[in-house]
Amino acid sequence: PYDGPSAADIARKRAEYLSPSLFHFYSKPLNIVEGKRQYLYDEHGRRYLDAFAGIATVCCGHCHPDVVDAITRQAKRLQHSTVLYLNHVIADFAEALASKLPGDLKVVFFTNSGTEANELAILMARLYTGSHDIISLRNSYHGNAAGTMGATAQKNWKFNVIQSGVHHAVNPDPYRGAFGSDAEKYVRDVQEIIEFGTTGQVAGFISEAIQGVGGIVEVSPGYLPLAYDKVRKAGGLCIADEVQAGFARVGSHFWGFETHGVVPDIVTMAKGIGNGIPLGAVVTTPEVAQVLTRRCYFNTFGGNPLCTAGGLAVLEVLEKERLQENAFVVGSYLKDRLRGLQEKHEIIGDVRGTGFMLGIELVTDRQLKTPAKDEICHAMEHMKDMGVLVGKGGFYGNVFRITPPLCFTKEDADFFVEVMDIALSKL
Ligand code: PMP
Repeated sequence: PYDGPSAADIARKRAEYLSPSLFHFYSKPLNIVEGKRQYLYDEHGRRYLDAFAGIATVCCGHCHPDVVDAITRQAKRLQHSTVLYLNHVIADFAEALASKLPGDLKVVFFTNSGTEANELAILMARLYTGSHDIISLRNSYHGNAAGTMGATAQKNWKFNVIQSGVHHAVNPDPYRGAFGSDAEKYVRDVQEIIEFGTTGQVAGFISEAIQGVGGIVEVSPGYLPLAYDKVRKAGGLCIADEVQAGFARVGSHFWGFETHGVVPDIVTMAKGIGNGIPLGAVVTTPEVAQVLTRRCYFNTFGGNPLCTAGGLAVLEVLEKERLQENAFVVGSYLKDRLRGLQEKHEIIGDVRGTGFMLGIELVTDRQLKTPAKDEICHAMEHMKDMGVLVGKGGFYGNVFRITPPLCFTKEDADFFVEVMDIALSKL
């Protein structure tokens, strides 16, 4: 049993000593003290089904014993910066990670977060091409340091500091976008940015395959191959941000970009790579990787033994427990069931996503697509009271984000749908 400080004590300390910009989802925030597989437990021992997994971070399940063992064993043996001496852990993990990527994508740079990974990817694209301009998609999230805040394209996440050299292309959003799913029309904007906003040469293009923070928006089928083509013709590199979609989450494939049939020049990752520990990575080709030999590139904690031992264990668990297959099978089942809910509840405007990266957009008017901002907060609160935690996001904050640990079962999916059904009925 938990005998730590009460929720009220923690809230008081948090208000006094932690960032005032922190936010929480619920009117009475939960005090979560333990996690196991797809469940979280509060201080009273109450169990919650976790359908958000720390923002798509926990892939193997909370505190997976194999991952915990790998980390603790390593912590007892050696924890040191990786750069000065040889150690096998970082090399073993880099090799294992490279084996999951197609083509010549085999050189790994480790970082500590998704922001750092994207900063590095953008830097490499600029160095490699000698150009500065980056194209990203509106509604995307790529991080919150100077360069990545520029690439992030939602006012909610931007501060008024210099974010130079990023152009934001019209989002190929099948639900809200002006051109529906018409990839060719959307990609004209990429071409126009290149022609009218740059010298005609760009450093690169960065995109998620499914926008996570943006509200589980799957970029229109056919868009990425066309966009990659335009960007490459303008001398740019294509960066796939797999921070949320990567690591088996989309089910049908290991990486989100694979669902679009493209091979990027640089892939960035974080979140799921470490099942909750701070770890990120950039993977690119030997040719692109060469650019960092022009100066010293150094990252004290990037690829440290503890995190890379954990990362290697994550890959082994994904394989051993066939979690990608589970994401595909249970994710498809859950999506079907959510489509059923859509028939019953007028407020569900759209059900979308792939595998265990699913979104439900709530609207008060299906024709006008008016965001149901308050309704979603009430529904989330009800769901929490019934023992289910779900995320939300999207530009208007009206999209449920369902990104559970990949060990989520069919029974969990049924329970989730039942609880959501009751919550939406109560609105
Ligand atoms: N890219 C994507 C797609 C993300 O969702 C996030 C985090 N929400 C990031 C990058 C930044 O990752 P981090 O918070 O680890 O810096």
